Amino acid sequence: MGVLVIGSIHADFYVKTWKFPSPGETVKGSSFFVLTGGKGANQAVGCARLGVPSYLVSAVGGDDLGRMVLRDVQSKGVDVSYVHVDPGTHTGVAFIVLNESTGENLIVVAPGADDSLRPEHVERALTDLQGRVRVLLTQLEVPLDTVYYALRRCKELGLTTILNPAPARKLDLGILEYVDFLTPNRVEATQLSGVDATSFEGALRAAERLTELGPRVVVLTLGSDGALLVTRGSAKHVPAFRVRVVDTVGAGDAFNAGLAVAIYEGMDIERAVLFANAVAALKITRVGAQSVPDRREVEEFLASRGELREL
Ligand code: ADP
Repeated sequence: MGVLVIGSIHADFYVKTWKFPSPGETVKGSSFFVLTGGKGANQAVGCARLGVPSYLVSAVGGDDLGRMVLRDVQSKGVDVSYVHVDPGTHTGVAFIVLNESTGENLIVVAPGADDSLRPEHVERALTDLQGRVRVLLTQLEVPLDTVYYALRRCKELGLTTILNPAPARKLDLGILEYVDFLTPNRVEATQLSGVDATSFEGALRAAERLTELGPRVVVLTLGSDGALLVTRGSAKHVPAFRVRVVDTVGAGDAFNAGLAVAIYEGMDIERAVLFANAVAALKITRVGAQSVPDRREVEEFLASRGELREL
């Protein structure tokens, strides 16, 4: 049994610089590297790193970049048999400019093959994997009709569904009926609920509003403040772990992978959020969206932080 992850896979091109260029200006970069990214791939790699069989349904173009990112996530333990190759387009890419003086970033994503992922690719994977997956984890970097199809079908088949509604997009709110766990950050929670989730109080009200729309559980991530765990009739704040921040890109993806693995293993939901906080905290001590800790590292971290409760 395993986790089914449906979403994007990208080649992320990073350039570091000490100064962002103004329009029309050219500045010198200090370093360059290419890493595999995309929320779907990041979350699938996270689940595999944490020791759970992870199946990725995604799409790449028929180009060298596609072959490179697929090889990479496969080498990290993800089953890529259900990744569709569309020869008519390019693999999704992100151009990320990191400003070393301010810590800010500028990102442009060209989705390319993300847009080729269709409901039939989901159906093919589900037909094959029926009985071998029990949790669905999906996000919003692929076409919405594909996401909606996946949520409806997986619910029908009895899977537990997790929707990480990232990046923020307008959704048909009726789909939330098919979501067991909804995991927005503050921006996404504001967009979906219409309640400003900037303050702690606002975030709580936004999460409460979202539970009225269908999800059994809303886990609203609060960056360095951890996460709010809200169900109809109960609310809890699970604080973040204090760590040395190196790179927060992919913190949300690591959190979602941790949560999916915990739910897959049947952890009680409060422990699941604690576990997800630990996975995300360890990820942000390292560079790269896919630098997710493995299971042993998470357990040692929890033990060292006095969290010896059985996980
Ligand atoms: P996203 O990356 O999707 O915007 P958040 O910023 O809310 O999401 O972060 C997701 C999770 O990552 C948080 O719930 C928390 O567990 C962890 N996290 C993020 N920033 C920090 C930080 N500075 N210190 C500790 N944990 C953090």
